[in-house]
Amino acid sequence: MNHAVARASDRARKRFGTERIRMSRVSEHVHKGIILKSDREVGLMRKAGRLVCEILTELEGVAKPGVSTGELNEIAEKRIADAGAIALFKGVVNPQASRPFPAALCTSVNDVVVHGIPDDVALKEGDIVSVDCGVRLNGYCGDSARTIAIGAVSLEVQNLLEVTRRALGVAIDEARVGRMWSEVAKEVQACVESEGLAVVRDFVGHGIGQEMHEEPKVPNYYDRKQARSGDFRLEANMTLAIEPMVNLGSHQVRYRNPDRWAVVTQDGQYAAHFEHTVVVTEAGAEVLTAIA
Ligand code: MG
Ligand code: MG
Repeated sequence: MNHAVARASDRARKRFGTERIRMSRVSEHVHKGIILKSDREVGLMRKAGRLVCEILTELEGVAKPGVSTGELNEIAEKRIADAGAIALFKGVVNPQASRPFPAALCTSVNDVVVHGIPDDVALKEGDIVSVDCGVRLNGYCGDSARTIAIGAVSLEVQNLLEVTRRALGVAIDEARVGRMWSEVAKEVQACVESEGLAVVRDFVGHGIGQEMHEEPKVPNYYDRKQARSGDFRLEANMTLAIEPMVNLGSHQVRYRNPDRWAVVTQDGQYAAHFEHTVVVTEAGAEVLTAIA
């Protein structure tokens, strides 16, 4: 699940709420509102991340024509409960939405970019489904997403998935201690746009730790206004959920329903989403939502 780029009033409310949590818990590790983790905390995040990776890998094997996103969600809910973890997305209150998020997974099919709610509609050959899973295990969070092709998909859609996966890889390769995030975001955007695809602007990645959404916001595009207000320097033991969302057509998105959860492309073309939770180290970024 990702950060909506909030309106000013929401932003002020959110910032106030999260600052208070930070001050009381780990003030010694907070730098410009960003909580740097201890090695012990990173170790706990690695365990949460590993669980998320195992679940997504299992779901990738199960997601076939005839299977519904609701069935995928049931599998995830059971795996999370069996591991003694908490499903991060279930019950999330988005001030703009009419009800809390009802499931452990976001399952976003075809033109749904993010925050799709699992249902009993069977997936069919040629569909794509972005499966986003977040857990809290022993107090620390992992958050990761993959877009899965259901059976055979068109070459155009295969390319969409490959480029989005590659864009996440670029971000991970380019994230190094000392760099400004905006430099990394420019590379991600260039990777996507060089293929004639579009990076979503209205939703971005996020810091992550004890909370699913921490500072900073982690966009996948560059603009001067955004860089002036929200840019940050990458530091050792900073933990980020990096999550490019890429559209086949225009970058513009809208809510599908009045409940304001599922976000769809405005032009109805397909979208893909890949996400990893990473820790920035002196040696580069380490993926925490991995098996190894
Ligand atoms: Mg996510
Ligand atoms: Mg996320």
